[in-house]
Amino acid sequence: MRRANPRRVKIHRNYTVDEAARLLGVHKNTVRAWIKSGLQTIDDRRPTLILGRHLATFLHNRRKGSRQPCRPGQMYCVGCRAPKYPAGQIADYIPVSPTSGNLRGICPRCERPIYRRVSRKNFAAATGNLEVSVPQAEEHIRDSLAPSLNSDLAMEADTHDDA
Ligand SMILES: [Zn+2]
Repeated sequence: MRRANPRRVKIHRNYTVDEAARLLGVHKNTVRAWIKSGLQTIDDRRPTLILGRHLATFLHNRRKGSRQPCRPGQMYCVGCRAPKYPAGQIADYIPVSPTSGNLRGICPRCERPIYRRVSRKNFAAATGNLEVSVPQAEEHIRDSLAPSLNSDLAMEADTHDDA
């Protein structure tokens, strides 16, 4: 998919829909769709004018938003700029609060540490099939796992007083 490059936009210029489309190599309808989805225009008069600054910001934010999402068990590597399954499919859980924390693994490609924010609510969805080491005091984070996946852990957890 072609991506419009915000760097081509001159922030002190105004652009018509046509000009913006030509500048960025996209169809006019694409620019109109951006306007519908929140790209600011100068006013309601014709022709529609877009402030370069708004256009650049809009494209920039959109790019960030279109970053590939992580699948269950993946973490985003800033070095590779891509979601990665950690080496060995293992991760450590580092608690930040009673209900959330970070998963830490190692990127199999560049060997940087990779992280993923997780909470009790999305723990199962975020960790997927990874083998996650959880500090014993934090075992309750696993409560969110499906019973079929962690029946052993659940039984183990029952013996702890984790109030
Ligand atoms: Zn990497």
